Amino acid sequence: MTANFYEALAAVLQADPGRPLLETEDGRVHVRADAERESARYARLLAEAGARPGDRVAVQVEKSPAALFLYLACLRAGCVYLPLNTAYQRGELAYFLGDAEPAVIVARPESADLMRELCKGRARVYTLDENGSGSLTEAATLPQEFAPVARGPDDLAVILYTSGTTGRSKGAMVTHGNLASNARVLVDAWAFSERDTLLHALPIFHIHGLFVANHCALLSGARMLWHRKFDSKAVLRHLPRASVMMGVPTFYTRLLAEPAFGRDACGGMRLFICGSAPLLPETFAQFESRAGQRILERYGMSEAGMICSNPLDGERRSGSVGRPLPGGQLRIAGEDDRPLPAGGIGGIQIRGANVFAGYWRMPEKTREEFTADGWFRTGDVGTMDAGGYVCIVGRAKDLIISGGYNVYPKEIELAIDVMPGVAESAVIGVPHPDFGEAVTAVVVPRAGAKLDAVQLIAALRRDLANYKVPKQVHFVDDLPRNAMGKVQKALLRERYGKRGAR
Ligand code: AMP
Repeated sequence: MTANFYEALAAVLQADPGRPLLETEDGRVHVRADAERESARYARLLAEAGARPGDRVAVQVEKSPAALFLYLACLRAGCVYLPLNTAYQRGELAYFLGDAEPAVIVARPESADLMRELCKGRARVYTLDENGSGSLTEAATLPQEFAPVARGPDDLAVILYTSGTTGRSKGAMVTHGNLASNARVLVDAWAFSERDTLLHALPIFHIHGLFVANHCALLSGARMLWHRKFDSKAVLRHLPRASVMMGVPTFYTRLLAEPAFGRDACGGMRLFICGSAPLLPETFAQFESRAGQRILERYGMSEAGMICSNPLDGERRSGSVGRPLPGGQLRIAGEDDRPLPAGGIGGIQIRGANVFAGYWRMPEKTREEFTADGWFRTGDVGTMDAGGYVCIVGRAKDLIISGGYNVYPKEIELAIDVMPGVAESAVIGVPHPDFGEAVTAVVVPRAGAKLDAVQLIAALRRDLANYKVPKQVHFVDDLPRNAMGKVQKALLRERYGKRGAR
């Protein structure tokens, strides 16, 4: 066995090939052997299309069992999987494809022409729709065997683009060793087993749904109830058959908004896990009183997989992301990168087998994010008490998390600032009952310019994923600045943060 993470998963898939692996909302069941067979065929197709080990395979498709098998195929073929949010538009795609230079692109049928144009003939483009149709089905006639390509623990498995504070996205390079170590730690920490049924309603272009949910189920042999997206009514219907659910805080607020949600629906549930954005204490408390269970909150990021978790057995604390997971180390450091005493507020720095290999083709940026003694600066600000419980109190980086998705204001500000009639802008997150935070733009028009919020939003929508587009636009004469000339976003958040502020 090599360090190719697919081999670890294959050991489970081959153990009991007829056992159900996932069931879609319409009741279709895919067994373990389906994953082995389909991923072998896709791996063969990738190789025949010219993708060699180490080559990137960019994938922008809807969530489907075939999409999961394609991910497994990339691991198996030693290619580097590059998932792209289905909301990404032309401007974003042009950058990712130019930067990552994939050998193969798999796209939704309606985006195939755009992908061909953007990659300028340098990649083979296949299509896959949400029902598993498209030119990728050419693989159906290929042999069902494919020996996993030998990989070392430091070989790249996935590139995850995180939006950059400078407006340029950075590709976090995740290795086979990173995936394997984090998956094993999580299966153990959350006691995943073959007896579990995971309700999987997360997107699979992001670590939460792609790594945390899939890997826990695949590695432990658990079954998945596979929902294309989170629909609170559908989730409520299927919850009685599940034992574990993973979600972003929005999932939990939406479940609580369903009058029928309560203890009855949760009879078979042993664990509700939450992460990707802060879980409000009021959601935690309401959930406990309605469902009779305490949500287990955990903390992670694309660059490191999961970092902290509240305990399975033991105190799950509201407002805390729990203790550092085994295998990783965490410290709270001051400006000088020196560890602070327990209770001090500082930058969260981490080290361990889960920490990524650096940013794709950005050695400078990579160096900047690591301390001289090898700790990764997460960009999150927090505290750790004497018992090891970590609380995130803010972000050093200027980041908005809306519905569990990260939005870097700089990217949106750059897009607004180039519009005719705009002098400058500041983009902030304001509290929102459903999304956690809502993207809000504060715009200074040029002298004499007449700007219209509706037109501005419509123009942004053409180039940016919908979740990044401001929900509200405020026009002002000047942005508030401090003595150093930095825009005082805290003031703007205070001014526009009240619910319903116009
Ligand atoms: P991503 O790389 O998209 O997974 O985003 C990672 C960022 O999400 C982290 O750096 C944190 O700022 C934030 N995050 C993840 N989990 C939590 C959590 N439980 N509470 C607060 N913020 C979180």
